[in-house]
Amino acid sequence: MADARQTETHGFQTEVKQLLHLMIHSLYSNKEIFLRELVSNASDAADKLRFNAMSNSELLSSDTELYVRVSANKEAGTLTISDNGIGMTRDEAITHLGTIAKSGTADFFSRLSGDQVKDSHLIGQFGVGFYSAFIVAETVTVRSRAAGSEAHEAVEWSSQGEGEFTIRDIEKSNRGTDIILTLRDDAKEFLGEWRLRSIITKYSDHLSIPVQMPKRGDDEQLEGWEAVNSGKALWTRDKSEITDDEYKEFYKTIAHDFEDPLLWSHNKVEGTSEYTSLLYIPKRAPWDLWNRDQQNGIKLYVKRVFIMDDAKQLMPSYLRFVRGLMDSADLPLNVSREILQDNKITRSMRTGSTKRVLSMLKKLAKDDPETYQTFWDTFGTVLKEGPAEDHANQETILSLLRFASTHEDTPVAKVSLDDYVARMPEKQEKIYYIVADSYEAARDNPALEILRKKGIEVLLLSERIDEWLMSHVIDYKDKAFQSVTRGDLDLGELADAEDKEQQEKVEEAFKDHLKRFESALGEQVKLVRVTHRLTDSPACIVTDENDMSTQMAKLMEAAGQKVPETKYIFEINPGHTLVQRVVAVNDEQRFAEWAQILLDQATLAERGSLKDPAKFVARVNKLMLELTADATA
Ligand code: ADP
Ligand code: MG
Repeated sequence: MADARQTETHGFQTEVKQLLHLMIHSLYSNKEIFLRELVSNASDAADKLRFNAMSNSELLSSDTELYVRVSANKEAGTLTISDNGIGMTRDEAITHLGTIAKSGTADFFSRLSGDQVKDSHLIGQFGVGFYSAFIVAETVTVRSRAAGSEAHEAVEWSSQGEGEFTIRDIEKSNRGTDIILTLRDDAKEFLGEWRLRSIITKYSDHLSIPVQMPKRGDDEQLEGWEAVNSGKALWTRDKSEITDDEYKEFYKTIAHDFEDPLLWSHNKVEGTSEYTSLLYIPKRAPWDLWNRDQQNGIKLYVKRVFIMDDAKQLMPSYLRFVRGLMDSADLPLNVSREILQDNKITRSMRTGSTKRVLSMLKKLAKDDPETYQTFWDTFGTVLKEGPAEDHANQETILSLLRFASTHEDTPVAKVSLDDYVARMPEKQEKIYYIVADSYEAARDNPALEILRKKGIEVLLLSERIDEWLMSHVIDYKDKAFQSVTRGDLDLGELADAEDKEQQEKVEEAFKDHLKRFESALGEQVKLVRVTHRLTDSPACIVTDENDMSTQMAKLMEAAGQKVPETKYIFEINPGHTLVQRVVAVNDEQRFAEWAQILLDQATLAERGSLKDPAKFVARVNKLMLELTADATA
């Protein structure tokens, strides 16, 4: 009977093999984290059991004191981490310990470069979990019995971490999981009890579950078990009693990050709803930041009982980089995601946590601009989703945004709207901006010329999200946003009376030429007019106030949507020598050629492309030939 039970061999999923390889080679210098991961899994298993026992109390049965136990066997060279949590069935062991379930895993692996230093940073973002056991163990054996199952239904999983694992049925007298590590020769330090204790206090002190180690008498005699951690959930303790190091370690455990957080905020809220929040801003972007559906941000607890990861309802999407937890005193323990969807308590927690994060960022921006810049460079693009998503906090979010501008000579976004407004000359009423494909295209767009000449700052926007952002905001502190490439560039009080008079004269004198341009270009343009914005360029195109902007049209085209063709307004600079020469051409045929080139050039500067570039090149070549012929004649 002894071994009638079959041993089965399974191969690891490809990603697991890659992960194992990477981990063993890149996390060499930080071996001890395996213990944090395994204790954290044991603690999760206890949380899951408690949670399931709320609807099925038999699961807890007699064994109600949940614990994690860590013990070393020097003779055998093994380290065992045991828990009496939820356990795993045979099928669960095969899937949970043989595959990586996280969505986007394949994408993650495609980003690995083969450069160990870089990859080890990435892997820190990914979170290493159970497989980190192989950093220190040559063999890992997992013996597990699921809550509610019989002793003979237990399972043993074992692997050397090299591509496959074996699985067989076993007998196990108690519920839960034992993880037995046969340590590598260079990892024997983890057999030392003091070493183990210090790692546990370092990483797991905040866990509410007791993490126990053997209690020894004077003669090294085993006298039972004693808890090594303080066993009080960190966030339930008084702020003044918690050290920065404790906050940082806690962050690393819950966020699976190797680096310290940038900052955090810990608050007990009383009032319409009662809850505690502990919210962190990471230093680095998590690997799945760009996936809007994948938000691993906020854990929800109810009265210190873990309920769920990734409680999307507690934090708006534009703050999805925030990590941490919220512990409610009001929600029912059996709260489901559906209940969370539309619930007064959740809503007030979300409002509160949003305000908390925004004010934490605001304070950082004020007190420590340099660190704020680090934050902005990492998460700014996500925060830009905010003004459209969260109207109630729009002004605060806008004050947190940073832009490149003509005031600085760098593509780095450093200028805040408050900086901009503070620099506005008295007569300036609007905040001028331009959106283009790149920083350079924005900076060099001819439409900025008049503003440059008058010394007026223009915000230079060139991220994909910018057009969308600007289409959702009207003003900041009562100063309207004005695109310099849309509509009539109204300089308001900035255009002095003299300018205006001069302008009117020029327009009057140029009237007939405008008609010539219109008949030469026909349906291609909506209108031809004298420009108010150019000084150094002969012409430009702009969109009408009510038409879709160039960048918005591009965004929609890129998203596969049909976009009605926009007709541009063609603006001519009569002061430009080239324009003066063109209008002096008497032959209408030739004039039309020139007009077309001016329009194509202007289109190129604004759109970055032409519908028929070959035709443009041919036309330019033809004119160049004529000109060079004139020159050599
Ligand atoms: P994560 O903890 O992020 O889910 P891990 O790699 O740490 O990822 O663990 C993988 C899975 O293995 C867990 O989600 C869980 O289902 C299972 N598991 C690991 N350790 C235990 C344990 N001690 N008890 C029960 N299940 C466990
Ligand atoms: Mg884990």
